[in-house]
Amino acid sequence: MFMGQELKGGPVAAAIRAEMTEKIEKFKERGQQVRIAVFRVGNREDDLAYERRVLSNCEKLGIKADVLAFEENVSTPELKEAIEKANQNRQIHGILLFRPLPRGLDEALLVESIDPKKDIDCSNPENLNKVFQGQKDGFYPCTPEAVMEILKFYQVPLQGARVAVVNRSMVLGKPLSMMLLSANATVTVCHSKTKDIAGITKESEVVITGVGKADYFDEGYFHQQAVVIDVGINMTEKGLRGDVDYERVLDHVRGITPVPGGVGAVTSTILLRHAVEAAERSFHE
Ligand code: NAP
Repeated sequence: MFMGQELKGGPVAAAIRAEMTEKIEKFKERGQQVRIAVFRVGNREDDLAYERRVLSNCEKLGIKADVLAFEENVSTPELKEAIEKANQNRQIHGILLFRPLPRGLDEALLVESIDPKKDIDCSNPENLNKVFQGQKDGFYPCTPEAVMEILKFYQVPLQGARVAVVNRSMVLGKPLSMMLLSANATVTVCHSKTKDIAGITKESEVVITGVGKADYFDEGYFHQQAVVIDVGINMTEKGLRGDVDYERVLDHVRGITPVPGGVGAVTSTILLRHAVEAAERSFHE
């Protein structure tokens, strides 16, 4: 990697898709079809947009996707029963439940009712547990896994490397730090109460940002040899921006992911890779 390299997500996603396509073709030759069930409650615009993206990606890859849409006033037992039906259906390999669920629904109970073997979005705590235990037979959360795939694709060494993660949420920072630890990195997790973040990030070979604040990090935060993975997605008047002021930082570091076109471009592909893995495991059962 040279200075100022754009670490685009597109080629990473394309490589993953190529592997998936190969597997899906083999399944088809044997008359096997990968199929997922998508559970949506209500009609929130961001859920609908996500659903359109998932369906279009499924179609391109030849994955069948059933949408199970429920009214906002659906009850917890009703939704649980529908999830359990999908758990029992051997034709369905992956289950995706859009969250957050409307208030009034018991989200904790519902995510626990998803069969861990079909839980392609790592909603069930049983799968999250496996991330912390370093067990590889579950499904890891898609965004942290996308970060790990980008680092692997661009051959960023992690063994013994100092890595700063600026985020401690359950969807990103916590599971990601465990995955980085499993890759033998030395991880520092930063958050809103951390003192002197720049002092920590400047000493790190890899910095992963997910604070949700547009253009928050300038070149003063990074070492010249740093690789920066920007997970932030922020809608601004200038359009979609990451947490890092990309134009200012690009030529001051070794490599950085753009926004859009970086981590986000890989995340949705990981979800479907999980569906293919779930199908593959079930075909072998
Ligand atoms: P979140 O739950 O709001 O977490 C934000 C984290 O950033 C928290 O740990 C917070 O610290 C920390 N933080 C906020 N301001 C900070 C500051 N000034 N200095 C240091 N740390 C600060 O958000 P999230 O759900 O994890 O998502 C984070 C970002 O990633 C968002 O922009 C989101 O849109 C994006 N995202 C992208 C993808 C993708 O595929 N690219 C997927 C999911 C999320 P505290 O814990 O102390 O509050």
